[in-house]
Amino acid sequence: MIKYYSIPADFSKNTIDSLALLNSKYSTSQVIETYGNITVDNIFGSGRSCCQLPGLDIDSLKKYVEYSRNKGIEFNYTFNASFVQNQEFTKKGVYKIKEFIYKIHKTGIKSLTIALPQLIELVNSMQLGFKIKASAISSIDNVNKALAYKWLNVDKIVICELINRDFHELRNIREAFGEKVELIVNTPCYKDCSYRMPHYNQISCDSVNVTNDVSFTYFEHKCMIRRYSDIANWMKINFIRPEDIKLYEKIGIQHFKLQGRQAILKDGDIVRTVEAYFQENFDGNLIDLINLFSKLNPFHVNIDNKKLEGFIEPFFKNQSFCKHNCNKCNYCRNFILKNLDVESIQTVCDMAQQYYQNVKTYADFISEVNVSDAQRISVNNIDAEDFKF
Ligand code: SF4
Repeated sequence: MIKYYSIPADFSKNTIDSLALLNSKYSTSQVIETYGNITVDNIFGSGRSCCQLPGLDIDSLKKYVEYSRNKGIEFNYTFNASFVQNQEFTKKGVYKIKEFIYKIHKTGIKSLTIALPQLIELVNSMQLGFKIKASAISSIDNVNKALAYKWLNVDKIVICELINRDFHELRNIREAFGEKVELIVNTPCYKDCSYRMPHYNQISCDSVNVTNDVSFTYFEHKCMIRRYSDIANWMKINFIRPEDIKLYEKIGIQHFKLQGRQAILKDGDIVRTVEAYFQENFDGNLIDLINLFSKLNPFHVNIDNKKLEGFIEPFFKNQSFCKHNCNKCNYCRNFILKNLDVESIQTVCDMAQQYYQNVKTYADFISEVNVSDAQRISVNNIDAEDFKF
């Protein structure tokens, strides 16, 4: 079975050349598309803040799409904000959205990733022949949701990464939806994160114009503090190791996605990461695959990928092995304690905790905004001009 990969675009011709070379070298895995969006004169958001993305206007995008297509690699435009300020429910908003979609269509792009069902309906109504992929932000985690998107005529669905280890559910979704079910292999997300949708909503706004540092850092810092608070968290991230791709193949899944558009802007190496997945073998630090070999922050733990052999097996063999009740289960904690260099991981976690505890917090920020006694008493008469920031 051939495995197909969707990967973040860095909009470099050299990278496309290298990916085309990988495609010719490996017959059982192929990069079929890169994905991304414009950041210059952009008016609709996606799943990444614009300050984390390469600067790109529509003309450069058109040239990239043409170059890439000539090398056998398509491009998927990320139109996957989780919220577009209800513009889709006003005539003026619908006009702007249609105008924007026509602009994307003129570049020759043939597929879009969309998160909101109402936007899928809107784009379908334009009959431009776009293939639509339902985003991971659509939170598809069961058969009913998958079928709801199938009925909206989407071509492919990206599964919510939170069920990456629920093989039973994945098999059911694959059977019900069909072949085009895609999984994110290098997700960095904290397990069962309660901030998941609020974070996507913040990003949706900040992917057009960043509000300020507070909005940009709020969820990232929460994520870091939680991630480094317990060494067991590193095992609970729903990553898929290159070696474990074969288990997903066994349940009929052959479409995979790499995330990491922010890592690409820094110093990430997408080609090296893709090759590890093509080889289905990686001797190194698993976190390097999650971060595309970029040092996204100074607190770099070492999770020796080869020592994770067998970790996934109970999830594969036992239906609903993970009960999402870590306090009673402890499988992930026991595995890391038994198999990895816990001392070095703990040292990095302690350093990160210390660092993030000293960073200015949202609590500090809101404490700087004070409502005077008079305003508190007559709340109905608050005049925004009276606030002193
Ligand atoms: S419930 Fe068990 S298997 Fe699931 S994440 Fe928690 S410790 Fe791991």
